[in-house]
Amino acid sequence: NVQVEFPGRTRILTISNQKGGVGKTTTTVNIAAAIASLGGRVLVIDLDPQGNASTALGVPHNADTPSIYDVLIDGFPLSDVVQTSPESETLFCAPSNIHLAGAEIELVTQVAREQRLKTAIDDHVREQETPLDFILIDCPPSLGLLTINAFTAAEEVFLPIQCEYYALEGLSQLLGNVRMIQKHLNPQLHLSTILLTMYDARTKLSQQVADEVRSHFSAEALRTMIPRSVRISEAPSFGQTVIAYDGNSAGAIAYREAAVEIVRRGAAQGADSEEKES
Ligand code: ADP
Ligand code: MG
Repeated sequence: NVQVEFPGRTRILTISNQKGGVGKTTTTVNIAAAIASLGGRVLVIDLDPQGNASTALGVPHNADTPSIYDVLIDGFPLSDVVQTSPESETLFCAPSNIHLAGAEIELVTQVAREQRLKTAIDDHVREQETPLDFILIDCPPSLGLLTINAFTAAEEVFLPIQCEYYALEGLSQLLGNVRMIQKHLNPQLHLSTILLTMYDARTKLSQQVADEVRSHFSAEALRTMIPRSVRISEAPSFGQTVIAYDGNSAGAIAYREAAVEIVRRGAAQGADSEEKES
């Protein structure tokens, strides 16, 4: 049984990669469930109109469900839409639903259109009697106003990389976007975490991509890699994360190990910045 400590500060990570199908949603829900299984309090914000994160967390998200759309467009407090996942009493989800598909366009004419998620999150964090340890934001694949809201609200960018040929191309594109957001909207934003996913030890290509990412990003890349696994891809159709669906599978074990690394790194970084302050 692994022991980790939660310093009582809310870390806000946006899971981003401008490519679709690289494992953003899978990583968001499984890291969230793994952190919850370690005793952390975790909120997943589903910012993708497809609602796959809400589905995987077993949270209803039909057209009548209060959703992150109501938060962004009508100014609802997050607490009005947050649900508890049936998987764990410390795992929460602000669901997306079909209305979010229109939000990208509706946001254009809103006041402070880039800051609306940040305002809602800051209010929600302040309201908590027991602090949330993590907020994980699952982004759509495009760089529209939804993703910009996530980049403005977060401190950390968490990049899942699929172990395939064009991975590094997506990475330089993402870093360019992060620099742009840093300059204009959120100076704190930085790439903190890279996770290699869908790793297949039998292919030379997987190995090469992993080596290359690690040589360029040794500080950001987690040591744990997520293997390609049928159990991981099956779990959402049961409305579950792989942590609940098959906790002893290789995929679940890898996601738990990655979660431990993320939690421990944050604790070390918190200690670093306290040292610098004193
Ligand atoms: P994104 O959110 O970036 O579009 P998803 O998380 O939805 O990507 O993943 C894309 C597809 O790949 C999904 O069908 C998902 O089940 C599958 N998938 C993700 N990670 C793995 C993995 N480690 N092993 C096998 N399939 C995976
Ligand atoms: Mg997704």
